[in-house]
Amino acid sequence: MSLFGPDNLPYGVFSTPGHERRIGVRLGDSVVDVAEFLPWPSLTPFLALGRPEWTERRARIRDALPRLTATAIDEVELHLPFEVADYTDFYSSEHHAVNVSRILRPGEPGLPPQWKHLPIGYHGRAGTVVVSGTPVLRPYGQLGPGVFGPAQRLDIEAEVGFVVGVPGRRIPTGRFRDHVFGVVLVNDWSARDIQAFEYRPLGPFLAKSFATSISPWVTPLEALADGKPPEQDPRPVPYLLPSGPGLDITLRVEWNGTEVSRPSYTHMYWTAAQQLAHLTVNGAAVRTGDLFASGTVSGPTETGSFLELTENGTRPVRLGDGKERGFLRDGDRVTISATAAGAEGGTIGLGPVSGTVCP
Ligand code: MN
Repeated sequence: MSLFGPDNLPYGVFSTPGHERRIGVRLGDSVVDVAEFLPWPSLTPFLALGRPEWTERRARIRDALPRLTATAIDEVELHLPFEVADYTDFYSSEHHAVNVSRILRPGEPGLPPQWKHLPIGYHGRAGTVVVSGTPVLRPYGQLGPGVFGPAQRLDIEAEVGFVVGVPGRRIPTGRFRDHVFGVVLVNDWSARDIQAFEYRPLGPFLAKSFATSISPWVTPLEALADGKPPEQDPRPVPYLLPSGPGLDITLRVEWNGTEVSRPSYTHMYWTAAQQLAHLTVNGAAVRTGDLFASGTVSGPTETGSFLELTENGTRPVRLGDGKERGFLRDGDRVTISATAAGAEGGTIGLGPVSGTVCP
């Protein structure tokens, strides 16, 4: 059974040589043209329609699948599936937060004192969110006092991203599904040396804004089963309750074709519904096409960044070609894919999102 069967049908935007962009759904290793139901060159107008239309058009597409035109996936070009309005990145894995603290701030307390009271995040840069396959240029920056040059500690962050369809402010956790259309996989490329020098007191700035890759496929929430809600102690303040469900997603990180980690989203402390409620509780608006990401997905043993996997480069991993790596070298390719519990009982595929580092 394919991970991309009729119970999955993620949405993307594709083109074939000499033709305009169209919306398609992935079925197996092909792209099915659904322009008859979604007649736009981008998912953005569809995202704005809201939950009843999302559900109805999906049902009509499923019914029509046998008669629609399919093209092999390797014969199409896949594009950024929607115009990214604003981009926010959270920091909601307790394991990741504790690991980063231990590695970058040895001797200091692990979790920041507010970490279990609110989902920490920062506002990122929408204009440099790119689709899977886009080359990632190694960023230049200040790596320390008086030191300028190409980043030497280039890293990844394997994350799950949430795509906002319906605009809103002060969105209660219980209204999550009315506003959020679906999920993408995210690689939040991070230059650890730039980050270490710049990030206090206002958080990441240039260490992450040079490129953020997303999968070309947006998996609708309808395709995903609800997961177990996280256990949260202390009890969050009322606007963060009820927490909403978790998601049963397992990510897979490949470095030059070698699988190096399989972090599970089930360990995340804050839910996506809580992240959206927090993001908008002060009156801040989200718009159609807003993207907010979970933060690096790390669990007790499997981690979603090379900073953690290699202990800041001091414990290199050996790849399939026998070569060792601490951080990314030019020419390295990283692919993040995932499987998830599907709403209809099976296992479905998410992503993938790939990128190759260029000098
Ligand atoms: Mn991140």
